[in-house]
Order: sequence, then C-alpha cells, then structure tokens
Amino acid sequence: MSEGERKEIAEGLASVARALTSSRRILLTSHKGPDGDSVGAALALVHWGERTGRIVRYVNEDAVPETLSFLPGFALLSRPPEFASFDLGVILDCSAPERVGAAWNLVRGLPRIVVDHHEGIGSAATIARWLDPSAASVTVMVGELLEYMKEPLDRDIAYALYTGLVTDTMSFQQANSDARCHRRAARLLEEGVSPFEVTMNLFENQRHAAVRLCGRAMERSKLRHEVCFSELYRRDFEELGARESDTEGIIRTLRGVAGIRVAVLLRETVDGKVKVTFRSKDDTDVAAVAAEFGGGGHKAAAGCTLECDIEEARKRILARLGVRK
Ligand code: 5GP
Ligand code: MN
Repeated sequence: MSEGERKEIAEGLASVARALTSSRRILLTSHKGPDGDSVGAALALVHWGERTGRIVRYVNEDAVPETLSFLPGFALLSRPPEFASFDLGVILDCSAPERVGAAWNLVRGLPRIVVDHHEGIGSAATIARWLDPSAASVTVMVGELLEYMKEPLDRDIAYALYTGLVTDTMSFQQANSDARCHRRAARLLEEGVSPFEVTMNLFENQRHAAVRLCGRAMERSKLRHEVCFSELYRRDFEELGARESDTEGIIRTLRGVAGIRVAVLLRETVDGKVKVTFRSKDDTDVAAVAAEFGGGGHKAAAGCTLECDIEEARKRILARLGVRK
C-alpha cells in the first residue's frame, strides 16, 4: 500500500468517527442479502448507540439470516425505524446504491457515510467515506473505529464483531486472515466470546433441507480445467423444501476439491434469474470476473446475477474462466 493510500484510509476513519459522534439518530443499512459481516458490523453499532444514548436503527431489503439469531441483542436489529428524523445514514459492507437495493430509498435523503472493505468506490457516501480493501472484514474496521473513538468493548459488541471476522475470512482460512484480523480476534476473545459457540451456530446448525440441497449440488458438480462448478434449479428447492438461505455453505464444500483454481455455484432464483457465486483458490481475481457480469466482491469471493437461463449463464461464465468444452 502506498503512503497516499494509507493516509486516505486514516483520514477516512477520522471523518467517519466525526460523523458518527456528532449524530444522535442514525440509520444503518448494508448490502442486500445481509451476511455475518454486515450484520455483525451493524449490530455492534446498534449496541454502541444503546450505550451512548443514541437512536440507531438498521434496515435492509432482505431479512437478517436466522442463523445469526444467537448474537446477543439480535432482536434490536428488527426494531422498526422512525423514518422522520434521522440525521445520518450509514452504509456498511458496500459502497454503491445498487448493492443496497430497496433500502436505498430510506437513506438517500440523509447525509451519508460509507464503511466498506470491497474493491471499488461506489457513490453512496456524501459526507465521509472510509474504504479499506486490506481489511479482512467490515467488523475489523468497526472494531478499530470503536477503539479510535475510545469506546469500551463489551461481550455483546465482541460477539457481533467476531462473527463478521469468522464469516468473511471463512473461519480464518482465506488469504485475508492476516495478523491485523487475528489481533482483532484475540481482543474480542478477551471480552468473553466463545469461538466454539460462534462456529457451532454458524456452520453446524443447518436445516436438514440445506444439507440435502448441498448433496444435490455436490452430486451434480463437474470438474473441468481446474474449475469445479455446479448448479441448482428451482425444482431442487421445491422437492427438498429448501430456501435461498439454505445455499450458504455449498460453495465452501465445492471449494474443497483438490487442485482447482475456482469453484462456481449457479442457482436459479425465485424471480427467474441466475445467481452465481465464485470462490478462487489461486490468484484468479473472481471479483473482476463477477464485475464483468455486473456483480462484484473480493478477489477470492465474489458473486453476480445474470438475467438468462442456467444453460446460458454456465456457458458465459465458464468461457470467461477459460474452460473449454
Ligand atoms: P457470497 O458468495 O458470500 O454471497 O459473496 C461473496 C462476496 O461477493 C461478498 O463480498 C459479496 O458482497 C459479494 N457479492 C456477492 N454477490 C454479489 C453481487 O451480485 N454483486 C456485487 N457487487 N457483489 C456481490
Ligand atoms: Mn464483508
């Protein structure tokens, strides 16, 4: 990282801290399809709001995943916002209005700050923007933010932040799990987080339908030119009584295949599109691949949505990944 980039990041942190401390009524949102990181970051800020006498609410187009309901204070996330009088909008874990989705309408009229660790600079911020793609998770950044603001940590905040670390680093297995995030994790464990409890809740608490759906995807998977890919159709969901959220762990299992560069899961969505999820194991930049199809993400974990059938999506994606018939 260049000196200039380092300075910009430090200034981003300071400006975000200023905006938060000078606001009393704060509306948080994050990318649609909220995950452990964006929800963890939001919940930590909700707790901070409770401790400091602020009104902090969270909105998202999609429901917060039930798998996260073990987090202390989880119910605080679903308190309805009083729309009239927020004085700050906070966009977490993305920086573009399109990623926010329908909740954008609720923050668009507010002064807005962005805290994000994805590559790229979306236009969601108006008064402050803190972008650090070198951060393993947004919860790493929120942990640093609270420290910068000299706010004490507690067990509730620590659970929320630790969960974002675990989900965005794939349980500290991805290349992004650097010393900075392990230090942050250690600090959170000191507050009383049980890593066993977090990983049990996140990964060993699946609906049986999800495990069976994963089975379908595994059985149907193919290996071509160091790319392992699979697909799920609406009829799979219907036959197994599975939901969208039951797809979460599948890409992780596909990624387990030896010697592959990239794992890809294609699945039909309820509205007849194809959601594509990527994970890379070498230096293939799947965020760049996803971006070519209107999506994005991180170098090793990304996604996009195509408006065509699975057949066509598979052809286009595999061609882009250099897989020939
Ligand atoms: P996941 O596969 O865990 O849902 O997503 C992996 C990463 O890719 C996350 O950082 C997520 O925000 C990003 N991502 C997934 N789908 C999309 C998409 O359709 N558009 C964009 N811009 N990013 C996506
Ligand atoms: Mn994230």
